[in-house]
Order: sequence, then structure tokens, then C-alpha cells
Amino acid sequence: MAMNVKPVPALDDEVNEIRLGTAEIVNEDILPYEDKLWGWVSDGASASKEVIQEARELRHQIQDKVKERKLWAPHLPEEFGGMGLSFMQHAYMNEVLAYSPGAASLFGVVAPNSGNQKILVKYGTPEQHEQWLKPLTEGRMQSGFSMTEPHNPGSDPRSITTRAVLEGDEWVINGHKWFTSNGLAADFYIVMCRTADLDDPGADNDKMTQIIVPRKTPGVNIVRGVPVWGRSSSHCEIIYDNVRVPKENQLGRTGTGHQAAQDRLGAGRVYHCMNSIGSMWRAFDLMVERIMTREVHGGEKLENKQFMQGFIADSYMDIQSARLMTIHCAEKMESGADPRTDISSIKVYVPHAYHRVVDRAIQVWGAAGVSGDLPFASMYQGARTLRIADGPDEVHKILIAKNVLRRYHAGETWDFGN
Ligand SMILES: Cc1cc2nc3c(=O)[nH]c(=O)nc-3n(C[C@H](O)[C@H](O)[C@H](O)COP(=O)(O)OP(=O)(O)OC[C@H]3O[C@@H](n4cnc5c(N)ncnc54)[C@H](O)[C@@H]3O)c2cc1C
Repeated sequence: MAMNVKPVPALDDEVNEIRLGTAEIVNEDILPYEDKLWGWVSDGASASKEVIQEARELRHQIQDKVKERKLWAPHLPEEFGGMGLSFMQHAYMNEVLAYSPGAASLFGVVAPNSGNQKILVKYGTPEQHEQWLKPLTEGRMQSGFSMTEPHNPGSDPRSITTRAVLEGDEWVINGHKWFTSNGLAADFYIVMCRTADLDDPGADNDKMTQIIVPRKTPGVNIVRGVPVWGRSSSHCEIIYDNVRVPKENQLGRTGTGHQAAQDRLGAGRVYHCMNSIGSMWRAFDLMVERIMTREVHGGEKLENKQFMQGFIADSYMDIQSARLMTIHCAEKMESGADPRTDISSIKVYVPHAYHRVVDRAIQVWGAAGVSGDLPFASMYQGARTLRIADGPDEVHKILIAKNVLRRYHAGETWDFGN
């Protein structure tokens, strides 16, 4: 079933063209070949060299077409080989390209490289652009983002204890990280380090710095890829043991690490939510297709059963509410208004809605729903994981409540129109 994307009357011609062009590639070049493109991943070790090679060639062909159509790297400015899209244009493109799981990589967006690229664009020096950003955008290098620590709560980034100390012209780094995604393939990591102690003078948020660490540096010890959902993974546990890198490897001014992480997460949360909406869109289409065709007990179609009609209605409402909430948040960010309450709201609401929508699709498809023949298993795990990664639900709910209460304590009420 192809994705049905038509021009949206409220959007300008440029955004509509981007969405239609993206949908054309998704429908014609990606959906019909999903088995071949990613089959080797679900088959794991059993995939032959030929199958893997065929998948690689197919992916390169699609990537060439994406570049030809000027739809490559929506997250990057033109001078770094990207589309130079505005924030809203990128958000609207994401819901289309995420219709097919994994398609983002065919459009040049691969986490955590994409987030690292944006940080390097904003905080990197011309030398760092040349040495790290350029090879990263050209696919000659891989990267990881190393912030979370096993012995400290990731939900409170100020608890980080990985320490970087300046000795002469070098940063010396000691610490223990885990869940550094893409850690096995990465050529370098952007490591979040404490560069001042909490009881040193200054604001708590100005005591961290992000530092580029090449993986081959002595003292970088990859302990393991932490298994996730019962499978081996490239989310790595890493011990940094007296790792020395030139002081020029720091990103931005000393003490800007927390701000850089916020920059990464703020816009990133809108993009993630639009991706989730694209996935929900796909799950919905597949669910409705099955409801219309599956016959049960005496040859009656599922579409005549009220339970199933309820699933359609509930998923429709989940997708629309998640989408409109995300667009409202993105518009607020774009307008320069304070979006923090809305960012936290979508960070909680959208993964839950995504979870519910995929859950219903699985139920409708029965055993096939949990099989490797359909994309639901990875969607389901992805939706559940999103409730933890980039800040768990509870932390964001606390932020929403604090922001609301602050306003009411100040004698104002909430203006839901803005
Ligand atoms: C698949 C995956 C990929 C990841 N990739 C990366 C990566 O590339 N780089 C990286 O640095 N990190 C990465 N992470 C880590 C992720 O960002 C953290 O897991 C997340 O920030 C939560 O931190 P934590 O796991 O330490 O949980 P904790 O902070 O220990 O929280 C555990 C639980 O405690 C509860 N809780 C926490 N705070 C509060 C509170 N104030 N009030 C009430 N309840 C609370 C919540 O239920 C929460 O889920 C990844 C995680 C996953 C699962």
C-alpha cells in the first residue's frame, strides 16, 4: 500500500514539493524493495554475502536518486552538502520519509551522526569542520554521542561525573559511559565531560564541555555493545581511562556542553516526533488494510466488527492529536515563543500514542503482527524505548507541571491559544 501524500493547502509550494518528492521516492523506490533493503538485518547471521551486497547496491542506487532530486541531508545547510531546509520544512519532510522504517538513512539522516553533524556545524571551528564534519557528512566517518553513564541518572544530566582536566595543551578524560549508540562503528565520539566541579563558582549548567575523542585514542576502552531488547547492539559501554586529546578538540567555549546538548535535544524532539507520526501513519494503513480484507468466523470481514471499528477510530484520534500537537510545538519554536512546555508535552504524548497505534495494528494482524514479515516489531520496541531515551516521561511531566504552576503562581492562567 502506497503512502497517500497530497499537497496540504495551508503549506507553501516549496514544502509541498518536498513532501511530494519524498513520498514519490518512498512509494516507488523504497516500499516495493523493503525486504531486499533490510531483509539481511532481520535475517541476521543467516544472510549470505550476495544478499548483503545486493542490499548495499540497492541502497546506493536510492541514495543517488535522492541526491539527484536534491532531497539529501535535510538537517544540514547547503554549504555542508545538505538541503538547507528551515526547521518547519525539515519537520514536515520527516513524517513522510519515516513511513518506511530505516528510510531516513537513504535520505542521509542517520542518528547519532545527524545530531553530531548539527552540533559540529554550530559549535565547530573551521578546522573541526574540515577534520570531522566533512568526512562525517560524506560518509567517510562514523560517530557516537557519549553522555549517559551507568552509575548516574541520565535523566539528570548535571549528575555526570566523567571528568576532563586541562593539562598543558591536552584534555585528560576519565569516566565511564554507556549507551553510546553506534559506538562500535564510530571513528570518533563527542563526549560530555565535567570541566568544573559542582561546588566550583558559576552556574551548574556551565560546568560541562563536549570534547571530540577519536576512538583509536589510547585509553578508550570499549567494554561491550549493551544488548537491547534481547539482541546484540552497538549501544556501547565505554571506559575513558586517562584519555588525552588536544585541547583544540573541545567543542565551543569551555562550559557550553550543557547548552549544546539542549540545542541538540530541543529541535531533535520535534524531528523524532514527526518520525513517529510517519511510522504511525504506516501502521495505521497496514491495520486498516487488514481489517478490510481479513475474514473471520463464517466469512465475515473484520471491518464489520465494532471492536475493530473502535481500533480505527482510536488510532485515527491518536495520530491526529499527536501530529497537531507536534506541529503546534514546532510553530511555537519557529515563532520564537517559549516552547518548553510543548516540547515536554510531545516528548511524553507522542511515544505513548505511537505505542498504542502499533499495539492495535499488531493485535489486528494476529501472529503475523509479531512476525518479521511486517515492520511492527521494531516499531513497537522503538516506541517503548522513546519513552526512556532523551529524557524519561516522568521528568518531562514534572517540567510541564512546574511551568504551568509558575504561571498560575504569578497570577496568570494558561493561554491555550498561544
Ligand atoms: C536505545 C537507546 C539508545 C541510547 N542512545 C544514547 C546515546 O547515543 N548517547 C547517550 O549518551 N545516551 C543514550 N541513551 C541513554 C538515554 O538518553 C538515557 O537512558 C535516558 O536519558 C535515561 O537515563 P537513565 O537510563 O540513566 O535513567 P534514569 O535517569 O536512571 O531514570 C530511570 C527511571 O527513573 C524515573 N525517574 C527519573 N527521574 C525521575 C524524577 N525526577 N521523578 C520521578 N521519576 C524519575 C523514570 O521512570 C526513569 O525512566 C540511549 C538509551 C537507549 C535506551
